[in-house]
Amino acid sequence: MTESTTFSALELSELRLAAVETLGWTEPTPVQRQTVPLVLERRDVVGIARTGTGKTGAFMLPALDMVRAGGGLQVLVLCPTRELAHQVQEDTVAFARGSSLRATVICGGVGYQPQLDALARGDEIVVATPGRLIDLKKRGKAKLTGVRILILDEADRMLDMGFRPQIEEVARGLGARPQTLLFSATMPNGVHDLALRMTKDPAWVEVSPSGTMAQGISEIAYSVRPDKKPGLLVHLMQQPGWEQVLVFTRTKRGADALRSRLDKARVSCDVIHGDRQMRERGRALDRFTEGKVRVLVATDIAQRGLDIEGISHVVNYDVPMDPGDYIHRIGRTGRAGATGVAVTFVTASDLGAFRTLEYQLERRLEKVHHPDFDFAGGIVQERPEAEAPRSRSGRGMGSKAGEALDPEELAALLAHG
Ligand code: AMP
Repeated sequence: MTESTTFSALELSELRLAAVETLGWTEPTPVQRQTVPLVLERRDVVGIARTGTGKTGAFMLPALDMVRAGGGLQVLVLCPTRELAHQVQEDTVAFARGSSLRATVICGGVGYQPQLDALARGDEIVVATPGRLIDLKKRGKAKLTGVRILILDEADRMLDMGFRPQIEEVARGLGARPQTLLFSATMPNGVHDLALRMTKDPAWVEVSPSGTMAQGISEIAYSVRPDKKPGLLVHLMQQPGWEQVLVFTRTKRGADALRSRLDKARVSCDVIHGDRQMRERGRALDRFTEGKVRVLVATDIAQRGLDIEGISHVVNYDVPMDPGDYIHRIGRTGRAGATGVAVTFVTASDLGAFRTLEYQLERRLEKVHHPDFDFAGGIVQERPEAEAPRSRSGRGMGSKAGEALDPEELAALLAHG
């Protein structure tokens, strides 16, 4: 395994290096640095790495270098969800830039014809969810015997979703045993078993999680038009489970404007920011912790010291500019073993900042779009809004002092508790 930190030392082809350069990637991530040489040596790999670590590049960049253009289907990626399949396919298209290699998605929920066409055409790379692939295989439309590289992406999620029989059925339908790469964020026994069964003498690659992943918190990004933000928040407040919600805005003016909108929509709400008297802020905090208002709108002043138990949702009404801010903000929910939800509103002009945030966090957030509030194009949709997770945290409230940015101010705030 090379210790180098440049892509050019990874022995990828010039085409791949150019594609990576076009993407603006200057250095391989740890999982890429470790995995690329192994794949090029034709080793089987079991990678413990979550989405956001750069694992797609880790398996697909070298895989593309081993594919023969015009040779029919050679790389098969199995994914748990169609959203991930689309993401992997889009990344693959970017990596294949400058070549004639084609990558297609085979997944449920959409018409068969384009997928049948892609299979008939012999696209070299197929990214599939197991269900639809088996369906097409049974109809004799998916010929998998030419597959030389099999990639199981997010294996833990696939097993959670009950796809083990389908994965095994797909594997049985392949010709000679393919080079097999299995990636999983976690390695419970079921995934370990699958890894041992599907791979031969694999190299194990483990990328330590960033350590900042907030346990028990679902992180979701909504794409939204700027003028639709208040409407989206009001809509969300009407959903089950949206009980005690802490909303962060970038500016004091934004916080006040949002309060008026929530008042008009009859969503009980209070505000804490630097322009409010200490007494007013203390009262606002009390009303929130006692459950008298459902929403507390805060600017960053409240961010680090605020430690209120039982917050069901944290909303980043504006994309935080700093990953540290993001982590501290979302840390307000899902405390003490409760499940929390952190929602970030992303407008079209936030897309750059949002991608940077994801990269710095080393993970991708789930994307949800809602047609009434979305901007054209949106961010990549990952699941319909109706399936967004509900918080299971209770309403029991209580406050205690946490790590404070400004101890005096917080002491004053919390003295009212
Ligand atoms: P993944 O874990 O493959 O979903 O990748 C997570 C995010 O990191 C994606 O937005 C990628 O485009 C980005 N990414 C992956 N590898 C690199 C790299 N070496 N340099 C910069 N960004 C990267």
